Amino acid sequence: MTYTESMIECLESNLMLLKEELACLDHYPELTGTVITKIVRCSRPNCAACAAGFFHGPNVYYRYYENGALKDKYLGKKIRDEYIRKTEANKKYDAVSAEIREIERELERLKTMGSKRRANQ
Ligand SMILES: [Zn+2]
Repeated sequence: MTYTESMIECLESNLMLLKEELACLDHYPELTGTVITKIVRCSRPNCAACAAGFFHGPNVYYRYYENGALKDKYLGKKIRDEYIRKTEANKKYDAVSAEIREIERELERLKTMGSKRRANQ
């Protein structure tokens, strides 16, 4: 077995494991944004805290794009944890997906290299 062949074998077994891992991960494709926090000035005209420069927060928002526009949706206490849990799950899912794509690209490269070499012999 050549070095390239053993590399391919190793990457293919990694790929299989990562795909199994991905299949077990939660994924919420409807949530493309992230959870952020902000210190904000409130809308009360006579707020003493804001007048003194002590703004409110940190408030929790869900930040996402809608039709190309950046949006922040305020997350109240009741829904906050759900958004945090789901967007964290998506981060993990995206990281494993990215790793899979990277290995697939590398496998493609190694296999192409191998077939070129064979063609030249
Ligand atoms: Zn205020």
